[in-house]
Amino acid sequence: MELQIEQVSKTYGSKSALNGVSLKLKPGVVGLLGPNGAGKSTLMRMLATIEQPTTGKITWNGVDIARQPQILRQELGYLPQDFGVYPNLTPLEFLDYMAAMKGLSAKTARTRINELLEILNLSHDRKRLLGGFSGGMRQRVGIAQSLLNDPSLLIVDEPTVGLDPGERIRFRNLLSSLSAERIVILSTHIVTDVESIAPTIAIMAKGRLVTYAEPENLIQSV
Ligand code: ADP
Ligand code: ADP
Repeated sequence: MELQIEQVSKTYGSKSALNGVSLKLKPGVVGLLGPNGAGKSTLMRMLATIEQPTTGKITWNGVDIARQPQILRQELGYLPQDFGVYPNLTPLEFLDYMAAMKGLSAKTARTRINELLEILNLSHDRKRLLGGFSGGMRQRVGIAQSLLNDPSLLIVDEPTVGLDPGERIRFRNLLSSLSAERIVILSTHIVTDVESIAPTIAIMAKGRLVTYAEPENLIQSV
């Protein structure tokens, strides 16, 4: 399992959002850090095959995802920033709908949804309307959605925004437990979100990848 980003740049009109980013990822958690506007979300949207690089290439197990996005999409889980859930649906209804969109059979979906509701501690609230949920609960539904197809590549963009400290810790533990046989990319501007769980950290600034290293080495080099 390998995700390779090769000299990827992205411009919007005359604005450069990403500038020559290269990175090779293997299973495990990677923390993507950087201030607002650094290009984190832009990179993640391209990895999620929602947008394409202006120049450069992204390959998943050697396959160019601009040419064959469906090969990655089957194995992709994506939790975008500002992920919205439908206030008039229950978690069960919402996850059933998302599972159908992802092409899971009804039987597989049922088993997987119940498992995820359990893991994310949402079982008791599975038939309540999402409109009445706290930010942290909604975020957990978003995470459940991203895990429906048991993805090999999990991309989560600023997932801890709106979580209280307890929820943050539980979320970190969940991500750690997921990372054994998949690539997890977690973007954040909060260093403590990633320092305890991400064996590698990528730091972006102004559209460039400025550092890629283990956290201990980062601390030593400061
Ligand atoms: P981050 O996620 O690190 O906060 P973004 O990827 O959202 O950074 O943004 C990187 C830069 O690209 C910013 O200057 C942003 O304004 C610009 N940008 C991002 N998306 C678009 C877009 N759709 N159109 C124009 N500019 C964009
Ligand atoms: P309870 O006994 O607390 O009411 P159940 O788990 O027995 O809850 O389920 C009640 C209803 O919810 C049943 O009709 C069942 O088919 C449905 N249900 C259970 N799991 C799912 C799911 N993952 N997706 C959709 N409906 C479900």
